Amino acid sequence: MTRTVFLDRDGTLNAEVGFVRSPAQVQVLPGVREALHRLVRADCRLIVVTNQSGIARGLYGEVDLARVHAQLHAELDELPWAYLHCPHHPEGDHGYGGACECRKPGAGLLHQARELLGVPFEGAALIGDSARDLLMARGLPITTIYVHSGKPAPQELATMQAAAFAPDHEAADLPAAVDWLLRR
Ligand SMILES: [Mg+2]
Ligand SMILES: [Zn+2]
Repeated sequence: MTRTVFLDRDGTLNAEVGFVRSPAQVQVLPGVREALHRLVRADCRLIVVTNQSGIARGLYGEVDLARVHAQLHAELDELPWAYLHCPHHPEGDHGYGGACECRKPGAGLLHQARELLGVPFEGAALIGDSARDLLMARGLPITTIYVHSGKPAPQELATMQAAAFAPDHEAADLPAAVDWLLRR
């Protein structure tokens, strides 16, 4: 059975460098490409889910984001099956301001995957470097893995603890997360 693995972008696939505005800022983390190959060989479908409030903040546009994702996709051997993003921010503008349901930790991007792409949650996993990545899966039948390869961990772990949420697993980085996932 094909399983879906939802992947955060910055700090999980590529280096966390703040807002990524151009393809030149994409730095895929060590071992990530090989780890994604292992997932695909194990019949996993990969979906990138990413907050891109830089669009609502006017830092870059949808076309810039498409260029960044084209670069990332090439560097990842075109393995991800889909990229879903939230362009909004509550205090943003540029046509993307106000509340939305897709900004993580909201579960909107997961629901988009299910409703628009027909991806079931059952058996799915989610890997991310921030509390809000994992909190988006709260209450859903999705295995959550926290990776230490992005945002400073103490703050993220404290945020999860304050929300009375614990990920199913913690790993150093995406390759280690994949090791664990494929052993299960
Ligand atoms: Mg991240
Ligand atoms: Zn949104």
